[in-house]
Formats: sequence, C-alpha cells, structure tokens
Amino acid sequence: MGRPASELQAGADYPRNRIEFDDFFPDEDSCSAFLERLRWPDGFVCPRCGVSGDPWRSSRGLMVCRACQGQTSILAGTIFHRTRSPLRSWFLAAWEITSQKHGTNALGLQRVLGLRSYQTAWAWLHKFRRAMVRPGRDRLDGVVEIDEAYVGGMEEGVRGRRTERKAIVVIAAEMVDGRRLGRVRMRPVPDASAASLGPFVVDAVQSGATILTDGWRGYASLTSLGYDHIVIKQATSPDPAHVSLPGPHRVVSLVKRWLLGTYQGAVANAQLPYYLDEFTFRFNRRSSRARGLLFYRLLEQAAEVHYTPTAALYKSTGRGPPRAVLD
Ligand SMILES: [Zn+2]
Repeated sequence: MGRPASELQAGADYPRNRIEFDDFFPDEDSCSAFLERLRWPDGFVCPRCGVSGDPWRSSRGLMVCRACQGQTSILAGTIFHRTRSPLRSWFLAAWEITSQKHGTNALGLQRVLGLRSYQTAWAWLHKFRRAMVRPGRDRLDGVVEIDEAYVGGMEEGVRGRRTERKAIVVIAAEMVDGRRLGRVRMRPVPDASAASLGPFVVDAVQSGATILTDGWRGYASLTSLGYDHIVIKQATSPDPAHVSLPGPHRVVSLVKRWLLGTYQGAVANAQLPYYLDEFTFRFNRRSSRARGLLFYRLLEQAAEVHYTPTAALYKSTGRGPPRAVLD
C-alpha cells in the first residue's frame, strides 16, 4: 500500500499549509472521509463478505455493508482505535508533528491542541511514533555504512528521573556517490554481538547491497548473510579528524542534537526505539517537496498500524497511565 509521491498532488491530496489544513478538515466527517480514502483507496470493500460498494455510514465512523449488513469501524486497525477524542484533534497533532522541522514535544502539542493533560499529548505522540517506521519496509540499498554508537542515558540532575546507562544504537546509512547521506535506519541493541547486529542488518538492508563496517567481529557474518561486505581498516589516515565511517557518525550526532533540542535529552532507554523511528521518519523524507506530504504519509501509516493501548505505552516506563489520559 501507499500511493507513490508522483501520483499525489499537493493541495488536492493533502494540505500544503495550515490554512489549507483548515479547509481540508473543517469537521469530523471530513476527517473520517479522508481516513476512509487512505484505508480503501479503490473504494470500500467489506472485510466480512468481500463485497465492494458504497456502505451506509453511521455516526462515529461505522460503515454498514449493504450486502451483509456487517459493521466495520473506520478506526479499527488504525492507531486511532477506541479513541474518544475528535479525529480532527488527532489530525491536527499529525500536522504539528510533521509541519515543524524538528517535530514537537508533549508540552508543545498540549498547548496547540488545548489538551488539559500533558499525559494525553505524551500518549498521542507515542501512538504516532508506533506508525513511523515499519520493519521490512523500504530496506536500504546500494552502499551502506554501518556502525554503533552510544546514545542517551539520563543526565544526572534531571529531576525525578533515574540516571540510566547509555544505550548502544546500531546505525545504517546509505551513502550516495560515496559521500552524501541517503536514507538511514537505526535500532538500539542489547550488545554489539553478531546475534544482535545480524538481525538488524537483515531487517534494514536489502540483500546484495554493499556494506561498509569496521573490523569488529560482530559483523563477520555479513558475507554469509548475502551482502558484499567491505571492512574499513581503522587508522589508515594520518589526519586525526578522519572518520572511517562518516555516515553513521554524522547521523548519530544529528540524533543527539535533536533529542537534546526537542526533548531536552529526557528520553528513557525503553522509549528510545520510538524516538529513533521518529527521527528516521523525518530524516528519510527531508528532501520532500512539501511538508504536507509528510503529514499524508504519517496518516497513511497511522491508518495501517494497529493501535497500542495507552497502558502498554506506559508499561515500559515502569509507571501506570495517569487517570487524566484521554485515548
Ligand atoms: Zn459485507
């Protein structure tokens, strides 16, 4: 699924700016209709009986098949499942996340949406992050540099938060013409063993691609996994500023700057994978002609990803959801 960018027309398929956003989505019905087109671009097909045809529509996004009378929720099977909030608020959240170069944090989102609770904004951001990168999709190809780096770890002195150890993150970066960054993929790994690195590489990089790494033995199996593996010898350059794998090195410094700038570095290790997904989502679309295209892509993916209950979002934080959270 996913219509190619060449088929999508700015201003017709997605809003180009906030003024157009308001024209696109004046009410709940317009949001429902937009979501329905994302889910069924060729028209509704009843998941119960397989008959295609325009359904009856009831309030709260229920569609009733004219053939079997079966009911299908427009929100089931999306990250918006079971929400009691207006879809328009969710769409506006997606707009905030994608229209700003560095995204937004929970406090910023709470202000823009006028949400009473900070935790609701926090949970919504996390629900959207679950839809940002789907494994196995758009594997990197061509020439890919891979390296690990340490990221995050709670800073001491941040009130109310444990100091955590830094996480090991493995980064794969496409190199275009040997020097320009293409797309990236990243994942925190428990250690730098072959058992941890191998599955990431298989998920992130197309088989047959050329992979450059250092001589670490965790990468020794890449040839047998079907890659053209080139080992870069360390310290081959007399220049002390020389970095043998510049791609991952540049990506990780951008990630760190983003985490500090947008989230003040306050990201727990358990949540780190999802923040990396958000960075990846935005970074891999940085050359998009229009910000509105990112909005479209985020909603498109949000419409395909099963929702994560709010309690599960909190599970990895070691706390339960506060009562104030609105789904
Ligand atoms: Zn039916």
